[in-house]
Amino acid sequence: PPDEDGDECLPQYRHLLSPDLLAGQVAFITGGGSGIGFRIAEIFMRHGCRTVIASRNLQRVSEASKKLVAATGQQCLPLSIDVRQPQTIAAAVDEALKEFQRIDILINGAAGNFLCPASALSFNAFKTVIDIDTMGTFNTSKVLFEKYFRDHGGVIVNITATLSYRGQALQVHAGAAKAAIDAMTRHLAVEWGPNNIRVNSLAPGPITGTEGFRRLGGKFAEKSDLFSVIPLQRAGNKTEIAHSTLYLACPLSSYVTGTTLVVDGGSWLTSPNSFSALLGIASSSAK
Ligand code: NAP
Repeated sequence: PPDEDGDECLPQYRHLLSPDLLAGQVAFITGGGSGIGFRIAEIFMRHGCRTVIASRNLQRVSEASKKLVAATGQQCLPLSIDVRQPQTIAAAVDEALKEFQRIDILINGAAGNFLCPASALSFNAFKTVIDIDTMGTFNTSKVLFEKYFRDHGGVIVNITATLSYRGQALQVHAGAAKAAIDAMTRHLAVEWGPNNIRVNSLAPGPITGTEGFRRLGGKFAEKSDLFSVIPLQRAGNKTEIAHSTLYLACPLSSYVTGTTLVVDGGSWLTSPNSFSALLGIASSSAK
């Protein structure tokens, strides 16, 4: 499907699945004000879902919410949270439950990333990425479990990455953080399955029109024709990630839990992992 580069809704959308697939449901999406999270919110809303989009910058989520409501006609509640601070998540979940009386789906999309060789990475930079990605995913999942999912069931989709599969150069921080989330996915699927909670990860490859793409050298790779080595010969787009997330969040995947769905066009199997080439990309994307 075609996509838009910035954080804008799709000018047109053709449903491949029933428009009422998520009717009556509510999704809580961290990082829902931008990039992949924004498109997940839009595609869910186009399938009848109401959403809560939550991140640190209230202005960002408020503006995103206006666009999403205008494009889809569904309700969207923008809230400010820092996933590193459980009390901010608890307050947001309380507000969301007050507004909608239910939460059916949690998408853990909030994350931070940048290219940096381990030798130049500060202790604090490594810790910050673990705090946002790994701790943030645990904090949000636990708050949702305690406040709603334990008694009502639910679906959790953690947005991870393929970085650790081959030890991607310049990505020890994010690779380690996302690998820990994939482990968490399996642990929580085991412990919370009896509460009718499904927990899965979705690992995107390089996705155009995102902050991740810009920061991790996607534009450079595109210009240098590096995506031709990907089996599907191109980067993916946000709508493709949102569609795969929709699959994991809806009853089409009712017997799927504890797994990671890789949505990368086969990229991690064939893309180069050259330390020196990535250093070149890092310095050119920093300019
Ligand atoms: P993005 O637009 O930068 O999304 C990250 C979001 O996380 C932002 O909305 C940000 O909003 C939020 N966030 C950051 N720190 C937070 C915190 N402490 N508390 C709450 N929210 C926080 O990036 P993206 O590229 O679309 O990435 C979305 C997800 O896909 C991430 O999990 C990323 O690791 C994953 N992914 C992306 C790609 C790609 O090619 N783009 C590839 C593989 C995986 P605020 O600044 O307002 O807090």
